[in-house]
Amino acid sequence: MNINVVCPHCLKVNRIPKKESYAKANCGECKESLLECKPVVGNASILATFVANSQLPVIVDFWAPWCGPCLQMAPHFEKAAIAMPLKAQFMKINNDDEQTLGSTHQIASIPAVLVFKDGKEVDRFTGARNSEQIEAWVKQYV
Ligand SMILES: [Zn+2]
Repeated sequence: MNINVVCPHCLKVNRIPKKESYAKANCGECKESLLECKPVVGNASILATFVANSQLPVIVDFWAPWCGPCLQMAPHFEKAAIAMPLKAQFMKINNDDEQTLGSTHQIASIPAVLVFKDGKEVDRFTGARNSEQIEAWVKQYV
């Protein structure tokens, strides 16, 4: 079985075999590793690309630079992303820069982490969590 994933480096859609784990997986376009999965710095159009094309859950952290709990959670979010290569795709969106998107998704308090699957939001949490809690939450949707 093959799945579509979005390259975090060049945003090209790649079709790859679905596996339990991957030794190596490189983008057909930019040749960068699809396993290097630091959260993508997103915006409205990048989020739309991922939600429309990725067959993995898309995990989106809405945050802002002035928000203490957001900054506290940031390394945990990154750690969870790196721990789950090609299980889910992680993105961070600065809610101050993307206020229209924030209001579209009814972001009332941050950090807010949303999971999109099959083109729509299926769940969210608000408030800082640690990497173990984030991973456990994401695994429900993998
Ligand atoms: Zn690429």
